[in-house]
Amino acid sequence: MRYRFRTLAVGIAVAALTLSACGNEGSPDDANKTDKGPSPTFEVAESVTLTGSPTYDKAKAAGKLVVGVKYDQPGLGQLPAGANQPEGFDVEIAKMLAADLGFSPDQITFTETVSANREPFLQNGTVDLVVATYTINDRRKEVVDFAGPYYVAGQDLLVKKDNTDITGPESLDGKKVCSVDGSTPAQRIEEQYTNAELVTFDTYSKCVEQLTNGSVDAVTTDDAILRGYAAAQPDTLKVVGNSFSSEPYGIGLPKGDTALRTFLNESLTKHAENGDWTTVFEYTLGDSDGVSPPPVDQY
Ligand code: GLU
Repeated sequence: MRYRFRTLAVGIAVAALTLSACGNEGSPDDANKTDKGPSPTFEVAESVTLTGSPTYDKAKAAGKLVVGVKYDQPGLGQLPAGANQPEGFDVEIAKMLAADLGFSPDQITFTETVSANREPFLQNGTVDLVVATYTINDRRKEVVDFAGPYYVAGQDLLVKKDNTDITGPESLDGKKVCSVDGSTPAQRIEEQYTNAELVTFDTYSKCVEQLTNGSVDAVTTDDAILRGYAAAQPDTLKVVGNSFSSEPYGIGLPKGDTALRTFLNESLTKHAENGDWTTVFEYTLGDSDGVSPPPVDQY
């Protein structure tokens, strides 16, 4: 009897929790709800001390912050079918930083960026920021600036589940490998693994289609991205799990906006220290055991 009562009490508590988790129907974040409950919320700064930032001044005058994110990368930046807002780790990182800049989620305009248009979109003012699995490197720093990093991924390979002969980049000789134009993984295959046959598209989802229909032998990009695709088709695809690069993800911003870069680095450090980063990671990418935010400003 006693045991039964306890079970019932637990059941009621769970139901109450579930109800309270659904309590803010109609909020701008509704489209982003997953079975993990409502997305994290961040206090929107009422007064922002940021002078000398042309990007911030422009966004403030427009009343909206335009952020480039990916739309086809599960867990990181994805616009689910029928949804009007993208979701994922990058999207939540963008909302977290936007809040410190005084922009609520409904004052953010998310725009799709693919790998190759991130620099041009920042250079021509199409977007204010890019939060899109965007590796910080010297070549890109010639034309844009980066805050961060806020995460460090590594290049890996996605293959068919029954594939046993591709075990790492050294086993790509004569194999067709798909990656994306304007990405660091495509560049690395082209420059360092010249015996692989590189095939490129504008998005990774197109590469994954090529893999599932047998047109290519592998897809290569960051492990964080590949894990999302493998999780979506666990019976068909697997990540090799032998990463061969370091891909520090930065917040792309227009070149020369040092005031904004400094502000965003301080903001990332604050959210790493107060636990928000971990909340965002667990909400989007899963168990953060052994994963922690990298120190900013090291690349
Ligand atoms: N992080 C790599 C890059 O920035 C690969 C992922 C991507 O293409 O977005 O190029």
